[in-house]
Amino acid sequence: MVALLAKRFFTNVQNDAPPIATYNDLKRPIATLPPPKKINDFLGIWVYGLFLRKDGRKWHNHAVICYLCDKIDFSHSMKQLKERILSDGKCFDGGILKVDNFINHQMDPVLMREMAEELVRRFSNHSINKVITIEASGIAPAIMVGAALNVPVLFAKKKMPSTMENMLVTEVFSFTKNRTYSVCVSSNYLTADDRVLFVDDFLANGNAAKGIIDLVEQSGATLEGMGFLIEKGFQRGGDELRSRGIHIESLAIIDSLDNCTITFR
Ligand code: 5GP
Repeated sequence: MVALLAKRFFTNVQNDAPPIATYNDLKRPIATLPPPKKINDFLGIWVYGLFLRKDGRKWHNHAVICYLCDKIDFSHSMKQLKERILSDGKCFDGGILKVDNFINHQMDPVLMREMAEELVRRFSNHSINKVITIEASGIAPAIMVGAALNVPVLFAKKKMPSTMENMLVTEVFSFTKNRTYSVCVSSNYLTADDRVLFVDDFLANGNAAKGIIDLVEQSGATLEGMGFLIEKGFQRGGDELRSRGIHIESLAIIDSLDNCTITFR
């Protein structure tokens, strides 16, 4: 409500400012800032506005403020994701959650974009120049994150093209398919200059993540962090990766799917 009033107020006050930056231009510098204090959104908007202007950039204030007002409730996308999991998610034996009508088969692009922006915010203190994922279900969230960061998105392929140059290969055990498969990337696209963020739909036992760690190590790139839409906290992947000191972020953590009841952390 405060954010909405502030949006109205500033829209009226600032609408004579010349449009010297586009709405999209604003995403990158804002993504690199720390989140505002939740105590007072109104003050947060001012602090951010001043910060951006002090920075020497002549941003269009009206756009800055509207953008910030839209983004001020940072928990929005997570609330929405949890609500969708509860309303549309289906549990299967063996602790599998199906989210086929908004993530894994049919996709909700608006929610996907909001989740990506939340991941970008959580990794805002990292310098990321590439997003990496594994086909197929990681591609949608990864490409949204890549678009928000304005960096390329690389996906590890499950089939090895005979035409791929300088192939790096690793093995991944699939929890849902109960088999091991090879994934590959070309070292033309994953190099020692890259600082990568791995993005995937689910974190379960962490096997896909470990495969990516191996590929990143083979290439000499730096792993900045790993972001997931849904983590199944009752499987060991999250604990294992965090204990290695990797920055892990998951938008929704499920502690239990026992008796087909979804319990969030
Ligand atoms: P992990 O490698 O962490 O064991 O499993 C992660 C991968 O398996 C993800 O890429 C995801 O596609 C798939 N996965 C693991 N658990 C689930 C689940 O409960 N539901 C769905 N839809 N995919 C899962």
